[in-house]
Amino acid sequence: MKKMVNKLKKVQIKKGDTVKLITGKDKAKQGRILLVDYKNHKVTVEGINMAKKTMRPSQQNPKGGIIDISLPVHISNVRLICSKCNKPAKIFRKKINDKGVRVCKKCNEIIDKVQEEYGK
Ligand SMILES: [Zn+2]
Repeated sequence: MKKMVNKLKKVQIKKGDTVKLITGKDKAKQGRILLVDYKNHKVTVEGINMAKKTMRPSQQNPKGGIIDISLPVHISNVRLICSKCNKPAKIFRKKINDKGVRVCKKCNEIIDKVQEEYGK
């Protein structure tokens, strides 16, 4: 069990990462992570594992209705995609300005730097 936990830690997936589904009905689809549930090892990915949800009427939405939402998928079902090679990335950690960043083993692209720039 302990080994399993260590393995999951190594996945190093964060909110905002682009990931690719490797299994399930959305296999091979890519999307951006909206939410990471580290406790249950699940991630919610934009446009992935969509489901209809019935909304009760509320103040924001007085009529209620049916909306599309992304349901969480298990973290082992996704692979981090390097924005430069556009392929599932093997990563290693590097320190830049005293900050640990994730770097793609293939092309040396700094994945965290890219994500931060995207957020600005
Ligand atoms: Zn790369």
